[in-house]
Amino acid sequence: MLKENLAKVEENVRTACKVCGKEREEVTLIAVSKTKPVSMLQEIYEQGVRDFGENKAQEICEKYDKLPSDIRWHMIGHLQRNKVKSIIDKVCLIHSLDSYRLAEEINIQAKKHNLVMPVLVQVNIANEDTKFGVRPEDAMLLAQEVSHLNNIKIRGLMTVAPFVDDPQDNRKYFQQLKKLAVDIACKNMDNVSMEILSMGMTGDYMTAIEEGATMVRVGTGIFGERYYGKNNQ
Ligand SMILES: *Cc1c(COP(=O)(O)O)cnc(C)c1O
Repeated sequence: MLKENLAKVEENVRTACKVCGKEREEVTLIAVSKTKPVSMLQEIYEQGVRDFGENKAQEICEKYDKLPSDIRWHMIGHLQRNKVKSIIDKVCLIHSLDSYRLAEEINIQAKKHNLVMPVLVQVNIANEDTKFGVRPEDAMLLAQEVSHLNNIKIRGLMTVAPFVDDPQDNRKYFQQLKKLAVDIACKNMDNVSMEILSMGMTGDYMTAIEEGATMVRVGTGIFGERYYGKNNQ
């Protein structure tokens, strides 16, 4: 079942790449495994997937110890400053930088581990009240401030687009995020590059790739629906 789901998603990714003239290798498919048991991650791992996305620090820590060490863990959820410590040496990329205070903490912890942490600035592209991320007009300023920190490196932007039935409705937001990335890249700031655009989820990843996504985060499309019990909100 998971194998078939993954094959279907993989085929869609390839189709979208073809549509916009991209090589398949230019787009990273992140399997979003939040709430799913280690056995399911293992199954997807065996199909060759190495990039997994989680939205809780604690869940990354729990799964990290139980799964192969060549997995690239992506922190895609809202990150509290007191949790940075626990994941700093486990994740390959933090997609959810949304404040300077968080950047400072990441910088401190990265320094302790003698590493430079790659991050994406999370942008609330549609200005939704319910979503994390900086307002589009504030992304440039955050990048400028963070560029002075030596143990953190901004590598692009991330967004969670609105939940829509028709992915075409999100095309304009993906275009806006791409444009924002180009504008920021033009400033040539220290420690800031814009080669990664993390956008597109199960409902709209093909559209996102067509508009320039280099990372798509697919959960439901691979693992099926998530069930949130009352202890796992
Ligand atoms: C859960 C989640 C996803 C995956 O969502 P699906 O619709 O299940 O593909 C992607 N990005 C973030 C930030 C998420 O929290």
